Amino acid sequence: MPTDSLSGIGVSAGVAAGPLLRIAAAPALPPPAPVTDAESEIARAFAALAEVVAELGRRADRAQESTVAEVLRAEALMADDEELRDAVREEIEGGTDAPHAIDAAFGTFREMFAEAGGYLAERVADLDDLRDRAVAVLLGLPMPGVPQPGHPYVLAARDLAPADTADLDPEYVLALVTEVGGPTSHTAILARALGLPAVVACRGVLDIPERTLIQVDGSTGEVGPGSSVLRAENRTSSEISGPGGTSDGHAVKLLANVGSVKNVPAADEAHAEGIGLFRTELLFLDRTSEPTKDEQVTAYRDVFRGMAGRRVVIRTLDAGADKPLPFLNQDGEPNPALGVRGLRVARQRPQVLTTQLEAIAQAAAECEADVWVMAPMVSTLAEASEFAAAVHEAGLPRAGVMIEVPAAALRAKDLLGVVDFLSIGTNDLSQYTFAADRMCGELADLLDPWQPALLQLIAICGAAGRESGKPVGVCGEAAADPGLAPVLAGLGISSLSMSPRALGAVRASLARYTYAECVRLAETAVAAPDAVSARKLVL
Ligand code: PEP
Ligand code: MG
Repeated sequence: MPTDSLSGIGVSAGVAAGPLLRIAAAPALPPPAPVTDAESEIARAFAALAEVVAELGRRADRAQESTVAEVLRAEALMADDEELRDAVREEIEGGTDAPHAIDAAFGTFREMFAEAGGYLAERVADLDDLRDRAVAVLLGLPMPGVPQPGHPYVLAARDLAPADTADLDPEYVLALVTEVGGPTSHTAILARALGLPAVVACRGVLDIPERTLIQVDGSTGEVGPGSSVLRAENRTSSEISGPGGTSDGHAVKLLANVGSVKNVPAADEAHAEGIGLFRTELLFLDRTSEPTKDEQVTAYRDVFRGMAGRRVVIRTLDAGADKPLPFLNQDGEPNPALGVRGLRVARQRPQVLTTQLEAIAQAAAECEADVWVMAPMVSTLAEASEFAAAVHEAGLPRAGVMIEVPAAALRAKDLLGVVDFLSIGTNDLSQYTFAADRMCGELADLLDPWQPALLQLIAICGAAGRESGKPVGVCGEAAADPGLAPVLAGLGISSLSMSPRALGAVRASLARYTYAECVRLAETAVAAPDAVSARKLVL
């Protein structure tokens, strides 16, 4: 470890320390070696395959989501295939060493699968992963992917792919540090959801030798030498509770963002008044086939059940760009963030939306939660109105849309003419307003939620909400910033939805101001020349 500290952008508060482990890269094949004893070379290759199968089995046993376990077991079956072993044997008997024989055997299957198309073609990435794992074992290298050392550690990576997140076990992972990524990337969102300190855009972190003890400060963004393993303290405030609002009683509902039923206990501990964003796609990130309606009903019902009598805003699938869903086969778009993502998928696959709405309706009918449904990535009045019609057709009473595209923010008043509520996704709204990729750490200043231009768009939505008497919330990461909460309230925002861990601080911050003060702060922030001044003038 360099004795000096590195710095990045702190995206999830808390301090933790532990030995650094990296997500190992796929191994490169060594130069071919002569085979002197074919039988022992075959035994070596088979042992590597067996280790891959065993390791996948161990991960499946540990997986908390049944769909993840199912995917891992399916992968294990592929590595345990008799025909695959026969192909490896044949290669080695022909004089090829074990790593190259494994590579060649998987290569043959890869070609066959790709040619077959459909479901088999979707398994090609799994075959590559299995080959990499077996080759890594043969070369004595760590298997690619999230390490599973069986002890606590700090995870370092270039960036985390959504699929990696399925393997993250918060029991063992103390903190996350990535070399790239921005404050609204999924690494950041996941870290906040799991309550893990995280630093992104930390250049040089991958040069730190494996197992060096490091300390990560997710508030300041500092990554420096550590002295012993330190777990981040649980920062959920259980002392401050009650409905959110200003000191003079102007209500601002404080809601939680969740990705599955696993996050519901944290929402309860933080005294969330309900759920303001249920990101349904997180349930399906690993899936290569469309989830069935029954599976969806179960997943949604699990969340609704825990929220009897409270609001649950469930979002329909937000696939594409930073959240690719393999079963939708969206590869090949030149510019995925501007492509067929979010509600736009319904243009190509309307049935996916219809099935999801039916599943939500069925789950809602079986529970006491107050279920509201919203669509991501809506840009026009026509999209909003068609979505509202589809929601009502499914028998669900409350339809809303997310405001993530400037065009929608500008037309908030019209949209509220056809839907029951709006929810502002500031992560995407920043991205599209500033033409700045939300995954790009270098552009973090443009993605700052205090940018007056972003606040101005939020003001348009807030004003439309006040005029129509319909709720307008914020569910992007801006809602988790305690300093910004009074500003958002003053702009007319009626609910803030965030990672449960942020709720206590946001609730306390709001309660320090009267509503009139919030309105004044909001005017000051919108009128500021830039984000830094806006923050300085308000805080
Ligand atoms: C957003 O864009 O602000 C949002 C809440 O949605 P996601 O982060 O899931 O894209
Ligand atoms: Mg979004």
